[in-house]
Amino acid sequence: MSRAVIVKDGRSDWRIVNMSDSNRVSAFAAGELRWYLAMVGGFELGFADAVDDTPSIVIGLRSDICPSEADLLPAPAKGFDGFSLAITPNRVVIAGDNDRGVLYGAYELLERVGCRWFYPTMDPADPEVVPRLDSIELEFGTYAVASPIPIRICNASSFFFDIDPIAMKKQLDVAMKARYNGMGWQCDHRTPVGDQYRELVEAGVIEAIQKRGMMLHGPAHSFPHFLPNELFDEHPEWFGMKDGERVKQEIGGRQFCWSNAEARKVFVDNAERFVLESPAISIFCTLAYDGGPACECPKCAKSTPGDLVFQLLNELIERLQVSAPHVMVETSGGYNPVHEPPQATKAHDKLRVVWAHWGRAHDIGFDDPRYGWLDNLETWRKAAKGGLTLCMYYTDNFATPWISAPYERVIEGDRRYILDKGVDAIYMLMWPKGYWWTHSLNHYLAGRC
Ligand SMILES: [Zn+2]
Repeated sequence: MSRAVIVKDGRSDWRIVNMSDSNRVSAFAAGELRWYLAMVGGFELGFADAVDDTPSIVIGLRSDICPSEADLLPAPAKGFDGFSLAITPNRVVIAGDNDRGVLYGAYELLERVGCRWFYPTMDPADPEVVPRLDSIELEFGTYAVASPIPIRICNASSFFFDIDPIAMKKQLDVAMKARYNGMGWQCDHRTPVGDQYRELVEAGVIEAIQKRGMMLHGPAHSFPHFLPNELFDEHPEWFGMKDGERVKQEIGGRQFCWSNAEARKVFVDNAERFVLESPAISIFCTLAYDGGPACECPKCAKSTPGDLVFQLLNELIERLQVSAPHVMVETSGGYNPVHEPPQATKAHDKLRVVWAHWGRAHDIGFDDPRYGWLDNLETWRKAAKGGLTLCMYYTDNFATPWISAPYERVIEGDRRYILDKGVDAIYMLMWPKGYWWTHSLNHYLAGRC
């Protein structure tokens, strides 16, 4: 016999031992394992506190696994959020290098018995794939894997603008199952951003993110939340100039006046307050309001949008280094109105850049010398001292054609570039509302990069 038999003819004498039961993510992972194995095999495994001779699935952080069980494990794989599996006649050991790794390990085991999660379960006609089996058997062996990319953000359609907690929970659930480790949130512009965060807390979305050990990235296009248009009447000089007149940050308007030191200070004050009141934010990514050109005032015109936005973000980082040093800070590059990198301003060592090629044709990967924006990408990569996040449009339909060729070739080429250059983050835009099912295979593949 070369297989561990967990369930036979709908019965089992196996149980689950969670060795990291004080860890919230490990507890969630053990629950997921029990829930899905019960659906597959028609038998709910019990939990036990400690190992003995009883056949057991042992799960937890590698550092918590007791020596007798840890001896079964292979060496950890090099990388991030890794896990190891060992399968023997009376033991299955799932050991995470960190808490996310524990949960990925549980999903790996469930995929080995036939579960598949290619898309969020938002259509009753397209449920998750969970086989019903008389017996659950697992091949003996050991396995260790880890992602070469530290940050893998899923920016799902439900995380844009309006807050729909049910859709958000379904989409973050499938993102974690596809090995993403963070959710990207694009706030709405009509409601104060702090109120939106509190709504996410009250709706249980933040809890759903945290119990999986995921990061929250955002609130993306949000400069007007931190320098509100409501201040325009009192301080028009803080706002952007268009054709000689100061105007608000709105369609047809301009970005605020990034060369105005008072405006920058108000922005930094408000941004800091938001970060301190929103503890689930791991990557504070704040971007200019979408689609607005930069201020044209004489002072701004002497510099470049890239220089001015780096100056603003450098000041923000200096502040957050004191009050919230664990939070990563990011803004956009390559994306209007900051298409070109700064000429004179040096980025703070901690400044991250999210680089996006809006309207990219997905015919060749970033590793191909014929890729048209390669020079711009390389310049930004070198300018982004704190790390580069590549915004990817493989899985959305608002920046790319609705019907397009398979993206596997470009995913492969991009991945070669990412690994070769040590790019540390990907950011995947996914599923426009109502069309979540298109490009779901791309989402699945890209998460495993
Ligand atoms: Zn200006």
